[in-house]
Amino acid sequence: MNSVESKPNVKFKSVTIISNTEISPNVFLLSFKRDFTFRAGQVLGLAMASTDDARLYSIASGENDPNIDILYNIKPGGKLTPSLAELRTDDTLWITVPFGSYAGSSEPAYWIAAGTGIAPFYSMYRSGMGDNKIMIHGSRTLDAFYFSDKLNNDFGPRYIRCCSQQEGEGVYHGRVTQYLEQSDNLPLDQKYYLCGSAEMVVECREILLSKGVPFSNVVAEIYF
Ligand SMILES: Cc1cc2nc3c(=O)[nH]c(=O)nc-3n(C[C@H](O)[C@H](O)[C@H](O)COP(=O)(O)OP(=O)(O)OC[C@H]3O[C@@H](n4cnc5c(N)ncnc54)[C@H](O)[C@@H]3O)c2cc1C
Repeated sequence: MNSVESKPNVKFKSVTIISNTEISPNVFLLSFKRDFTFRAGQVLGLAMASTDDARLYSIASGENDPNIDILYNIKPGGKLTPSLAELRTDDTLWITVPFGSYAGSSEPAYWIAAGTGIAPFYSMYRSGMGDNKIMIHGSRTLDAFYFSDKLNNDFGPRYIRCCSQQEGEGVYHGRVTQYLEQSDNLPLDQKYYLCGSAEMVVECREILLSKGVPFSNVVAEIYF
């Protein structure tokens, strides 16, 4: 759970849904027209009504893409996501301005995500920052490697999928944490961007630190 509480300084504006597509069981890609600028890695607050508390979502589209895309999964019993999944083309959604300091750069780096935590990295990739990155994506099932066609094509061997509950061709069988533990010679002078649950971020950070990566080279975004 997280929210931008209803405070007088939280300003919403309404947007019109272009599409809201279930791309994997219970996981949706929602799109609306972009009429503002943002930095890849930033988040937006979303709400069904201007009086609601907003929930935070990473922008998954590129800085110059015509639409804003949001990748989200339904949390059963959640306040927002079950209603979000009911939105249809031309329905109204309320958004805050984009904000947040989680930002990509053009330097070589590792992008390490779990589940919908791929969203900010997909935005960075769409914004032209993917060339010198290694993308590691963890998921329980093979159908949850969102955007994998494009990433496989563009990253090739720099795109590593880790699947903990199913085996698949070209996919590491195990969790991201196991993959990192088994990785020798991780560069110590590069940044490691992490995005996912608190548990995933904490475990990955501990492994990286134990391998000699300086604390300042681990940059985390926690979805809670
Ligand atoms: C910086 C940031 C970026 C994020 N980006 C994304 C993103 O790109 N995509 C994405 O999918 N998510 C993202 N999240 C998570 C997102 O903000 C929401 O937390 C998530 O979608 C759940 O929202 P919800 O309103 O449906 O569920 P919530 O109402 O917040 O509930 C979440 C879960 O807690 C349970 N719950 C609620 N209240 C209680 C209670 N009182 N006691 C016990 N259990 C309870 C619910 O049943 C549900 O399973 C991000 C979070 C952060 C902090």
